[in-house]
Amino acid sequence: MTAILREPLARRHSVGVSVGGVTVGGQAPVVVQSMTNTDTADIDGTVAQVAALHRAGSEIVRITVDRDEAATAVPKIRERLERLGLDVPLVGDFHYIGHKLLADHPACAEALAKYRINPGNVGFRDKRDRQFAEIVEMAIRYDKPVRIGVNWGSLDQELLTRLMDENQANGSPLSAREVTREAIVQSALLSAELAESIGLGRDRIILSAKVSQVQDLIAVYAMLAERSDHALHLGLTEAGMGTKGVVASSAAMGILLQQGIGDTIRISLTPEPGGDRTREVQVAQELLQTMGFRQFLPVVAACPGCGRTTSTVFQELAQRIESDLREQMPLWREKYPGVEELKVAVMGCIVNGPGESKHADIGISLPGTGESPAAPVYVEGRKAATLRGNNIAEDFRAMLADYIERRFGRNADAAE
Ligand code: SF4
Repeated sequence: MTAILREPLARRHSVGVSVGGVTVGGQAPVVVQSMTNTDTADIDGTVAQVAALHRAGSEIVRITVDRDEAATAVPKIRERLERLGLDVPLVGDFHYIGHKLLADHPACAEALAKYRINPGNVGFRDKRDRQFAEIVEMAIRYDKPVRIGVNWGSLDQELLTRLMDENQANGSPLSAREVTREAIVQSALLSAELAESIGLGRDRIILSAKVSQVQDLIAVYAMLAERSDHALHLGLTEAGMGTKGVVASSAAMGILLQQGIGDTIRISLTPEPGGDRTREVQVAQELLQTMGFRQFLPVVAACPGCGRTTSTVFQELAQRIESDLREQMPLWREKYPGVEELKVAVMGCIVNGPGESKHADIGISLPGTGESPAAPVYVEGRKAATLRGNNIAEDFRAMLADYIERRFGRNADAAE
């Protein structure tokens, strides 16, 4: 019978890597990262988006460095972020001409906290190893870690062809899909070996192997985790838009994280036109939080509603409370240490409302259809008030703010 994984497995051992002061791997908490979609040469736009991503909770932010103008902008972006008091590490995403850009723009090489290299995109044949080596030498010179980021959309075709030929010569014991997975894993491991042979320490290398199908991602990372102790960056590439992207990324990464695999995650969502880029950070945090690996935000337990709730009051209140908490968190993290442990309940009627509210730190049970228009509020399991009238939502938000101040404010201990 297949065993069911009831508890997360212990985190796989990996060598910790410092990325501009943020540790990835080595038993550090799983790090949330994201990537901008601005033109890096647009300094104002990139600074604004990096700031928004970092304020939303991204602990590392990657930016595209694709040409001279982008490389010239990088130190200026770094400087502007410093002036805003944002010390978020910036990762440079290089393809094709990374070796040249880093050599021609020393200030860019210095300002970045990590270089991302895609071994399938550094050049072809003899140029490939030479240009890969040049980036690694640059990383050694500037004392920066690298992420060797394989992507199956740009997989090293020479390696894939060789493995396909070998498989065929052996009577094709593996399917084409299995050979491709093997090629992805080998591309990452061989590149890491090459980087180490040039002199880059194991504690300066992070690996990733991104694919777009959930089952492939799980298989490829399980293979990488078995065959290496490098820190691993998880991400499902081309995850897609909206719920499809969220579900696919969460399913794949949830399974890997449960198995102790993964030291940093990025949720690659295609934003809706004009959509908010910070959504990918929110999803990454929620994934880690709902799985119990990290605590970023207070939890709001809200019932799904049913035929007993004919009004939208409780939906609106739950949504309002959640967005208030998310918006306030950057400030509250400083002002109210420990506030991310808070549990709030917003329930739709008396069936489960009072019970769920009592389990939360503070909870409200709104009146369902046919119930008397009163909303009991529970604080730490005890009924603290009954709200009535048209301002129930506002009154509850005021009670919540007051509770947070009393419990997490700097003078909380003195007041008790
Ligand atoms: S708490 Fe009440 S309104 Fe909410 S789902 Fe349960 S029965 Fe329905």
